[in-house]
Amino acid sequence: MSILDHSDIFRKVVEALPVGVWITDDAGRIIYGNPAGQQIWGGAGNTGVARPAEYKGWLYSDGKRISTEEWVTARAIRKGSTSIDEEVEIECGDGTHRIVLNSALPITDEQGGIGGAVMVNQDITARKRTEDYLRGMVDRDPLTNAYNRRSLYDFLEIEVHRVQRYGGVLSVIMFDIDQFKEINDDLGHVAGDRVLVAIAQLVREQLRGIDRLCRYSGEEFLIITPSTGLSHAVSLAERLRTIIAAASFDTTARVTCSFGVCGFEGDENADALVRRTDDLMYKARRSGRSSVVAE
Ligand code: GH3
Ligand code: MG
Ligand code: MG
Repeated sequence: MSILDHSDIFRKVVEALPVGVWITDDAGRIIYGNPAGQQIWGGAGNTGVARPAEYKGWLYSDGKRISTEEWVTARAIRKGSTSIDEEVEIECGDGTHRIVLNSALPITDEQGGIGGAVMVNQDITARKRTEDYLRGMVDRDPLTNAYNRRSLYDFLEIEVHRVQRYGGVLSVIMFDIDQFKEINDDLGHVAGDRVLVAIAQLVREQLRGIDRLCRYSGEEFLIITPSTGLSHAVSLAERLRTIIAAASFDTTARVTCSFGVCGFEGDENADALVRRTDDLMYKARRSGRSSVVAE
């Protein structure tokens, strides 16, 4: 007797596997889910869900929902394709989200047709959360949660190369908190910290998803605004200047900032662009502070 005849052994192995294993028929209906799979999905097999695509939330990790046709088992059944370790975010039976790696392959029947699919899921939620946490520690300033100087240059170099290669525009805004030392001296370092945090938050609220707020040094920040020409960047800087000047901080009456704004010129590098913007910010401070100087 061949080992392949011992279907009970295979069942026991699949039941004990630490990864989710699902078998569907050729219409995508779930006909088997092992205990690890049930646990990952918060009981998908017990919720009366007949087809994976009817499950209440399938999400890509970038937040876009996967259509029925794009789902790994659907592709295995329709096209006979094998998928390995596709990362997706799923909404589980209890409403929580998990990140899983999905693999799927078609099951061929005796006539060589596709009789269904096997899907395997590995729950990598904990690993992803740790990765995100560590990445945050590497990329960001812990006080303000703005990107740190190292990632500033990483982003800026990518954007500079993009414009040099494909054209388009890019601007950079730099700002410095006026007479910040006085805030520290008058109210203490903790109050100064709170002002830094509040300003970073105010600024982030005004930015688009593709803009990056970076902490350049102590009380100096830099904003990378991709696909933004100089005039729009100046308007943004002016808006930020007004919003910060009008804001009330719990520790101090009034805080203003001085801004430098530069439109990228195709023949310079990231470093030169930052230096030009820094010079303009310096001019704004020299000319009485709380202003925007652009070039
Ligand atoms: P100006 O208007 O010319 O920019 O003057 P300023 O006082 O803002 O600038 P200066 O460079 O003289 O002082 C900056 C101060 O920022 C000094 C430093 O102690 C403070 N600082 C830098 N990093 C931090 C921080 O993380 N927290 C706090 N509370 N203060 C900081
Ligand atoms: Mg400064
Ligand atoms: Mg300052």
